Amino acid sequence: RSHAADPGSHNVPRQVPGAAYSRVLPTPVAAPRLLAWSDALGESLGIARPLPGSGMVADVLGGGRVLPGMQPYAARYGGHQFGQWAGQLGDGRAITLGEIFDRGGQRQELQLKGAGRTPYSRHADGRAVLRSSLREFLCSEAMHHLGVPTTRALSLVATGEGVVRDMFYDGNPQTEPGAVVCRVAPSFVRFGNFEIFAAENEATNLKALADWVIRHHYPYLGEPGAATYAAWFDEICGRTALMVAHWMRIGFVHGVMNTDNMSILGLTIDYGPYGWLEGFDLGWTPNTTDAQGRRYCYGQQAQIAYWNLTRLAGALSDLVGDDDALRAGLERYRIDFGAHWSRMLADKLGIATREDDDPLIVDLFGLLQQTETDMTIFFRRLADVPTGADVAAEARLTPLREAFYAPAVLEAEHGRALADWLLRYTQRVRDEAEPGASRIGRMQRSNPKYVLRNWIAQQAIDAAAQGDMAPTERLLELLQRPYDEQPEHEAWFARRPEWARHKPGCSALSCSS
Ligand code: AMP
Ligand code: MG
Ligand code: MG
Repeated sequence: RSHAADPGSHNVPRQVPGAAYSRVLPTPVAAPRLLAWSDALGESLGIARPLPGSGMVADVLGGGRVLPGMQPYAARYGGHQFGQWAGQLGDGRAITLGEIFDRGGQRQELQLKGAGRTPYSRHADGRAVLRSSLREFLCSEAMHHLGVPTTRALSLVATGEGVVRDMFYDGNPQTEPGAVVCRVAPSFVRFGNFEIFAAENEATNLKALADWVIRHHYPYLGEPGAATYAAWFDEICGRTALMVAHWMRIGFVHGVMNTDNMSILGLTIDYGPYGWLEGFDLGWTPNTTDAQGRRYCYGQQAQIAYWNLTRLAGALSDLVGDDDALRAGLERYRIDFGAHWSRMLADKLGIATREDDDPLIVDLFGLLQQTETDMTIFFRRLADVPTGADVAAEARLTPLREAFYAPAVLEAEHGRALADWLLRYTQRVRDEAEPGASRIGRMQRSNPKYVLRNWIAQQAIDAAAQGDMAPTERLLELLQRPYDEQPEHEAWFARRPEWARHKPGCSALSCSS
């Protein structure tokens, strides 16, 4: 059910009880200009890259023009933020234009983020800044090519307007360039869409949305009904488990796992202050807003996803009418996550274990945590460690050296501990006797060579702010083949440089976007 269009107040922030969404038009911007485009996604949607200077496409994707057949709306959802129920939240700045079918016949929703105020904007402006939009654009596409379930991004359009943010650069409000991302997914429905209905006792809406999601996105479960609802929750748990296991595999930290940022399809959604583990640290979060609590740090992600699923279970409790079935779904999450993570760890190490409490893995995590070790480089280089029995300890260490932020630790006790571990590891590899090509192939397909490190994204942002989109284009290209060796891009396979450690945007970020 939508809120009746009221031309005079359609985008005035307010509570919208009883609505699943509100019809609202994007607010046109001063000077829309296409900055970036994903050819990979465009091709799968059957949308050709706009010709240079094509004002029409920038106009539509910047929110300035609504094409025939589009019925723009903003969805209503709530959510638990940092563990607290936060009431009606959004969507405060994302406006769906409509749906199209991609070349595979899959329904895809086109949504503009940063397209102006909606009834859900609360005290904010409905806009997004270039830096955060570019981060979302690049990371959505990077994650897709890394094999992680995610929403996608088709385009990035500069608005030609300034946006005021409480910038963290110097503490003073500054005007920054604004931008709009066109993001794409089969659906952007979140856990929070159901939570708001449950919290406001809108059972009819809740059932209608559940039925809609099942019919459109889980048709294989059959017609909605008591048993289907339970099976649906079970599926959501399974998909969420797989998504989080992939995050863990590649060292991705979402940073804001509030329930309004949890997709009902198990897609990574809402790229804000995300980050990639550089120094491996279970307690690391890129989100400076979360620096105290570390609720959303790397090592907590599996537990937080579980907690979020318990919130969804609560919201669906009356609909499903069978709390044991919901508990079974949560149990499936636990089991699936464990199984995925164990399998992925085995692939990362090129071993045959199916247990994440394998002492070889537990001890490795202990070592990685002890001294700053670049996760991406360490795992990628592990495949280069010689596994022969008569190899000198030094030779086993050599391929891994560049993963260490303080290489001197290798000359002391830590180096000896690592050498011991490598001795056990290579012994294990020899015992398991998997042919080298198969083992190394498995490792290289699960240990990306190139990830979107924050300091790398920041270089694209700094250039874009000067009107230079070439670094963005190069990164987009590079990140399409993250598991391949790309010698011309070796500079992006590097530890975070020291200058980036405390530079804003280059390591940790605030939520300001
Ligand atoms: P987030 O914490 O980014 O997931 O956002 C939570 C809610 O705040 C969502 O409804 C967002 O759309 C909304 N929001 C964030 N930034 C803005 C903004 N600049 N204008 C309007 N709403 C916003
Ligand atoms: Mg959000
Ligand atoms: Mg956000």
